[in-house]
Parts: sequence; C-alpha cells; structure tokens
Amino acid sequence: MNSSFIFFWVEKFGSFRFFERCKNRNVPNEREKKKISKMLSVGLFFFCFCFPCQTAIKVSTFFRTRHYILLLTITTTAFGQIPLNPGVDTTDKELKAVYTLWTNYLISKPNKDNIKNSPYWAESEKIKYPKVDQLLNAINTETPTYSMGYPTILYMKSQNGFIEIKTLFGWSDSLKNIYALCITSVFAKKENGEYKLYNALTVNSYNWQIQKIGSLTFHFPLTHIFDKAKATILISSIDSLRKQWKLNSAPIDYYFADTYEEIQHLRGLDFAIGMGNKDKPSGISDQETNTVFAGGLGENYFHEVVHIYLNRLFPNSSLVEGLAVFYGGSIGHDLKWHLTRLNDYLNQHPEINLNDFEDFWYMDNFTNPNSTIQGLLCYLAYKNGGLDKLKQLMSYDDTIVAIEKEFGIKKDELNKFFREQINLNKN
Ligand SMILES: [Zn+2]
Repeated sequence: MNSSFIFFWVEKFGSFRFFERCKNRNVPNEREKKKISKMLSVGLFFFCFCFPCQTAIKVSTFFRTRHYILLLTITTTAFGQIPLNPGVDTTDKELKAVYTLWTNYLISKPNKDNIKNSPYWAESEKIKYPKVDQLLNAINTETPTYSMGYPTILYMKSQNGFIEIKTLFGWSDSLKNIYALCITSVFAKKENGEYKLYNALTVNSYNWQIQKIGSLTFHFPLTHIFDKAKATILISSIDSLRKQWKLNSAPIDYYFADTYEEIQHLRGLDFAIGMGNKDKPSGISDQETNTVFAGGLGENYFHEVVHIYLNRLFPNSSLVEGLAVFYGGSIGHDLKWHLTRLNDYLNQHPEINLNDFEDFWYMDNFTNPNSTIQGLLCYLAYKNGGLDKLKQLMSYDDTIVAIEKEFGIKKDELNKFFREQINLNKN
C-alpha cells in the first residue's frame, strides 16, 4: 500500500490486522503522540474553533485518553486510477472527460503551494477565491482533504450546464468495514472546448438571496426572510468593535443558513466527519477572503466577524479563539454562560488538573473548555488593564508564557488559579 502513516489509531481497532501492521511499523513514542495530537487539534482549530474544532477536540481527546488511533494520510500517487462507483456511465464521452479531469487533479496532489497554478480550475474561480479550491483544507487547515482518505467517485451528473462530481474519501480496515471522512461535491463546465473545475459554492449559491448593508453582504437561502433587526445588532456590534480597536471597515461576505449542515452542503461537503451530532450554532471564517459561513444564528453571528477583524492583528497568537469568545461568545452564548457550565463540570471532576489545561479539550458538545479558558484570560486582561493589557496578552505565541508574564502565575499554579477565576467570573 502506497501510503504514509502520519497519524495513529486506536487500540479499539488494534485487532484489525491492517492497523496492527501499521502500528508495528509506526508506533509513536509519547512525545510524538503529543505532537501529533496537538497537530490534529491545532490544524482544525485554526480554521476556527467554532464548529470544526469540536471535531478536533473529540479526535484528539479520544486519541490521548483512550486508545490508539491511526489516521491515514494517503499520498495521491497511490491513486493511479480513481475507483468509480459502478453505475456511472463512462461510455458517455462528456462524463469520461470530466472523470479524467477530476482524476488528474487528484493525482496532481493539490496543496496550498501548487493550487494557485492548477491548470484544472476555471480562471474565474482562481480570481474569485485566493485558495481556489474551497474544499482543499475544509477538514484540516494543514492537511489537504484529498490526502486524508482514499477516493471513490460516487456520482457524476449533468445539470444546468455543469457536471457535478461527488466523491467519497475514506478508508477501510482488514474486516472490510468502511470509514468515511467526507463526501465532496465539485462541478465541471466546458470552457473553450475543455472542462474546468468550479467550486460547489459558486454553483450552489447561484440562487441564494443577497442583501447588502454597509460593508456586509449577506447571502442566504431563497426561503429565508431577511431579519433586518438581527442584522442591525450585528452591525452595531461591529461598529463598537471597530471604534474600540480603531479599525477601518472591512467588506465581508456573510453566508448563513438555519443549520451549519446547510452551509456545509453549500460549500460542497455533502458529508464530513463530525456531522451527525445535534445541531448547534456553528461557523467558520476565512480571513483571506473576508468570508463568514455561519449556521444557526441567522444574521447575527458576531463571533466569526470578530475573527475577520482581529485575527490578522495577532497572526502568531495562541489566543485568537479566546479573543473571539470574549467578544462574540460561542455557539450563541456569552463567555459567562460557558464559564458557569465549566465551573459545574470542574466541581464534578476534581481530578482534572488545569496545570495542563491545554490538554483539556473536550467536555461536552456545547462548551469547549479550552476556548472558554482562553476567553477568560482575555476577559481578565481587559478587566485588569483595559485594551492595552489585552493587546499585550495577545502578543505571545505561547499561552503558558503569556499567563506567567501577564498574570504572574506559574504553570504549577494554574489549576488553582483557573478554578478560582472560573468560579469568580461565572454568571
Ligand atoms: Zn472561532
């Protein structure tokens, strides 16, 4: 098998001969485990904690605490020919051309460095989106989606002048159980006699409604009735933030729907690992294109907009998620709501040692303990020294160092410090 085993797998699956073979070859030491685990968390985390990170947390916690996980990063050179689900008619000349286009694209090992010059994409898509392929890093900000699983093309269908291609990325074990990472949707259209790729976002948002208010362009489904009052609240929050930080207005494309799954479908993820849980407000922001994708909070998902305005000021900070939680809350609730829940949880779990708080990623589906603690740090800095102190806190790339320098608390005092401050500042 021509693949590289970068991540690990779970003891639960250890009996699978396939994974045993991998394990024997690639058993990580403790240091490597920690590093990879952090990579998994941070990789997803950076796109934005908001929803995808919940997946990261689950994965990394699972990895750290219970089992041994082997997640495969697969080199696309293994593909050669991409399997095509039986039933897709490749005797059709047009479908065959599109199959060849998509296969060649995957074999080209698309990544952040080579995507801008990819010959497979329509020029208009390259101009519209600096990252060109909207799904390339939709699962993990560091690892290309297409190298995280083996592809099977499920579906190719002509509609409205495009041909849609749906592809399953996943892997199987020696018992022939199949695990799905995602099902992607991408489109192809003929230009000057040659097929080129188009993002699902371009095609699927074609009949979405658009409403422009000031610097915000709202995009929303045809069936939605625009709530101007909610949009006004968002605009007023942005104005306050800009005034406080003395920032110019930024044009933002704000895509929203009732659920985050609708947003994922819009972007071309028919399924992605992490779907299937109870709906909750979730979002993601792309600082390069000033685009917000948000589900569940309608016209007022301030958290993601905070990322657009403030992330770029602190490109090396380890606390950008905390800053967004401090200003914009998380999943539609403010910081204090999460502190109250975290406080209850910690009271029920005296064994949790917050000296290692960066390892405490997961508590339940609604409160992220790590981002709540990050938000608390921003809150404390602002409470103690206003905006200057908050900016100072954001200037570090290492949270432990930031806490020691700005609050005078050493690593072995963090458990006591955090438990006290969480209790003191909850609702
Ligand atoms: Zn966020």
